[in-house]
Amino acid sequence: MRRFPCRPAETGAPAHERCFADQVLGRRLDEALARPAAQQPSWPAPERAGAVIEQLQRADPIVVPAETAQLADQLASVARGEAFLLQGGDCAETFVDNTEAHLHANLQVLSRMSAELTHAAGMPVVTVARMAGQYAKPRSNAVDASGLPVYRGDIINSAEPTAEARTPDPQRMLRAHAHSAGAMRVIRGVRASGVYISHEMLLLEYERAGLWADACGPGARLTSGLAHFLWIGERTRQLDGAHVAFAELISNPIGLKLGPSVTPELAVEYVERLDPHATPGRLTLVSRMGHDRVRDVLPPIVEKVTASGHQVVWQCDPMHGNTRNSRNGFKTRHFDHVVDEIAGFFDVHRGLGTHPGGIHVEVTGEDVTECLGGTSGIAEHELPTRYRTACDPRLNAEQSIELASCVAELLAA
Ligand code: PEP
Ligand code: MN
Repeated sequence: MRRFPCRPAETGAPAHERCFADQVLGRRLDEALARPAAQQPSWPAPERAGAVIEQLQRADPIVVPAETAQLADQLASVARGEAFLLQGGDCAETFVDNTEAHLHANLQVLSRMSAELTHAAGMPVVTVARMAGQYAKPRSNAVDASGLPVYRGDIINSAEPTAEARTPDPQRMLRAHAHSAGAMRVIRGVRASGVYISHEMLLLEYERAGLWADACGPGARLTSGLAHFLWIGERTRQLDGAHVAFAELISNPIGLKLGPSVTPELAVEYVERLDPHATPGRLTLVSRMGHDRVRDVLPPIVEKVTASGHQVVWQCDPMHGNTRNSRNGFKTRHFDHVVDEIAGFFDVHRGLGTHPGGIHVEVTGEDVTECLGGTSGIAEHELPTRYRTACDPRLNAEQSIELASCVAELLAA
C-alpha cells in the first residue's frame, strides 16, 4: 500500500514523473469530485481547509487493506446467503463521547446482539460497527428551529447553539481523524479480530485525503484507509452526483441507503454503477422504507435487482423510515415500528426466496431514553430523562438486546 498521491502536484513534480496511479486515478477523482456534491460545508476560509487536507494526506491509515479485503470476503458470504450482517452504533459519534466507557458499552451491546443472532441464524454473523469515524451528518434543513446554521456533525461544527459554534471549522477534520484513530486502538484492544468499522461517506474532501493506492502502475486501485466499509446516505445518492462517482473509484465494500422514493429501475442503475464487475457482496443495499411501506415498496426492487444477476447484500435499516416527533418535542422512534419494519423485510425476502442479509441499527450500550417502547415501555414523558443523542434517537442496551431476540426469532422461523 502506498500513499496517494505519492507525489502530490504541489511538490512540483513534473507530470511525466508522476506514476499512473497519481495521474490517472487523480484525474478520475478530480472528475468525480467536480460533480455536484450535496451536503458539503462551506468553510469560511477555504485556504485553511486546504492546509488541513494536506496534513491529513500525511496521516497514518486507520484501517489496513488486508482487513478490508477480509470483510469483502465475508460480505460475499452474506450475499450468497451463508452469513448475516449486523451493523450498528451511534447515529452521530461525538468527540466528548469518544471515551473508553462509551466505546466499550457500544461494542458490548453489538457483541451481545451478535451472540443472540448467531445462535438463531445457525450461520456466522459479520459485525460492522458504526464507530471510529461516524462524525459527519447529512441534514434535511440548512438552519435549525432558532435560525442558526444546523449542526452537521463534530467533524464540521459544534452542536452548541451559538452562531460561532455552528460555523464550520476545518481544524475539526484533524480532531475527527485523531479521535477515529484513538477509537480504533480501543476497538483493537477489546476485539483481537472481527470488528470492522464503518461510517457514512459524506464529507468528500476528507474521504479523498484518506485514500491509499495498492500499486503505481495500470490496474492500481484506490482504497479508503479511514474505514473498512463506507456507505452513501439517502440524501447524497444522486446518480449524477459526486458521492456515487467517488464510491465507484474505491475498492472498499460500499453501502447505499434506499428510501421509499427509489424505483426498481433506479435501483438497477445504482447496482450497475457501483457493482460493475458483479462481485458478490461488493454492494450492500440498505432499505429504509418505513414499517408501513416496506411490504409494498421493497418487493419490486428486490425482484428487479435479482433479475439483473448482481449478488448484493440486502440489509434493513429499520430506524430512518420510522422517525417522528413526540408530542413533547423529541425526535423519536417506536420500538414496535422498528421491529415491524424488520418483520416486513423478512416477509418480502422469504416471499421472493432471497436472503434477508442483515440489519443496520442505531444503538448504544448506554441506558438512554431516546426511543419509545420495548419491555420497559419507555413513554413520551420519560424521553427527557436521559435523551443524549447528538442527532437521531438510538435504542438503549435493553431495547437493542430485545430487538436482537426478535430478529433471532425471525431468523429461526
Ligand atoms: C444515518 O444513517 O444516520 C442516516 C442519516 O441515514 P439516511 O441516509 O438513511 O437518512
Ligand atoms: Mn441517523
